[in-house]
Amino acid sequence: MLVNLNEVLVPARKHRYCVGAFNIFNLETVDAVYRAAVELKTPVIFAFGEKYIEVANIGIIATLVREFAGRTTLPTVLHLDHCKSVDVIYKAVRAGFTSVMFDGSRLPFSENLSRTKQVADFAHSVDVTVEAELGSVPFDHALSEIPEEYLTKVDEAVRFVEETGVDALAVAIGTAHGEYKGRPKIYHDRLKEIAGKVSLPLVLHGGSGVPDEDILQAVRAGIAKINVNTQISSAAVKRLKVLCAKEKPGHLSDLLREAEQAMVEEVKGFMRLFAGTN
Ligand SMILES: [Zn+2]
Repeated sequence: MLVNLNEVLVPARKHRYCVGAFNIFNLETVDAVYRAAVELKTPVIFAFGEKYIEVANIGIIATLVREFAGRTTLPTVLHLDHCKSVDVIYKAVRAGFTSVMFDGSRLPFSENLSRTKQVADFAHSVDVTVEAELGSVPFDHALSEIPEEYLTKVDEAVRFVEETGVDALAVAIGTAHGEYKGRPKIYHDRLKEIAGKVSLPLVLHGGSGVPDEDILQAVRAGIAKINVNTQISSAAVKRLKVLCAKEKPGHLSDLLREAEQAMVEEVKGFMRLFAGTN
């Protein structure tokens, strides 16, 4: 059953658990996330990043996810991840996405605020939810310790949420996208301060490679959605590498089925962790 972000994240923040957002961009990734959710009976967020428009048609992805969502009563969200273009947001909403992330985190504060508000006003008029990002969760991850100036500022978060009317806020508290070089330093105190003043569901990007105890602590503090991409991809690539190293790797359909199974197992691991049942 397709719903927007509020239906899955508001109860998550209230009851201190979190919902996984997993990146999807083809049949195998969608099927893997769907199967994991159904097997564990958990709500789930299918996240399609703007950057994957290069490898998959947004309309076909929307049709695919809507088809899967229609086969279960579990709450499922079709979410546009990290989008910088308002035109792509319009396109996604027309295609049937129930939620969008406008990523203005690289813009100056006031411009991020005004453009996010514009997106939120439009999206809410068609019952689509909006996630925004404040502070910076880097994509270049040479450091395991993110400098403090990248982090979300508490007073800015309060003002931003009030003035934009967004539904969820991605915060920068020390995580980064991609693989970490060492153990990432998570700024739990900053998260606590933000969560103390912002009652919205908070979002953590860069969930791959963050130690379990940091994840659980962040969820207890108010993180209601965690994005995972790299680790799911790595699990599939690792499985393919083993199969392709064989003298006769076999038919592509069999290889993809194996890769999908590796993703199902990886996604289930995160789902158990996020539900606090691992
Ligand atoms: Zn992200």
